[in-house]
Amino acid sequence: MPHAPPLDVSCRYCGSRPAVDVTFKRHTGMVVMRETVTYPGPFCRDCGLNVFRAATAHTLAIGWAGLLSLFIFPFVVIGNLLSRRKLTGLTAPTPPIDAAVRPAQPGKPLLLRPMAYLLLVPILGIGIAAWADAKDTAESQVGRCVVFYSDTYTMITSCDEAHDGVIVSVVDRDGSCPASAIAELERTERGENSDGGKKLCVGEG
Ligand SMILES: [Zn+2]
Repeated sequence: MPHAPPLDVSCRYCGSRPAVDVTFKRHTGMVVMRETVTYPGPFCRDCGLNVFRAATAHTLAIGWAGLLSLFIFPFVVIGNLLSRRKLTGLTAPTPPIDAAVRPAQPGKPLLLRPMAYLLLVPILGIGIAAWADAKDTAESQVGRCVVFYSDTYTMITSCDEAHDGVIVSVVDRDGSCPASAIAELERTERGENSDGGKKLCVGEG
């Protein structure tokens, strides 16, 4: 059971009790710069949820968008979740008799805020790039076509385009393409074979 909140603590924002002294943070990543805004308590349950949801949705949306922010934002989100746990042990806020301010509306839950899902954009981007990279093997080039522009410049292209040959197979060593091959190619990146030494055999077509 959570400890009963001390009765002398009241919400900084509306004066209601019970309240707990927790802090929420909102982090913004701005490529090379970053900003963290701190919202100190104490909070009653409803004002606290209001700040938690707004600050955490913002952090999930753009808290990661920076060099160091990528490493900072998870801690901000976890810190906010830990603070939120203390709030949810509170009963509904009771404003003071002479209250001028009502407790805030807790607002939409985090999962119903579209902003909170912006974090999925970079995750999906990394996933798609990794998937495309994993699919781009020497073997995946078989059946594609080749244009010879010069002795040193060759391009792999779709066979729908004008072409000089078709990739018929992949071999592990120099000189082991079938005798019918008209050329043996390797894909390179910065002068290195990027397919682990494999060669592409080009046939007529
Ligand atoms: Zn309050």
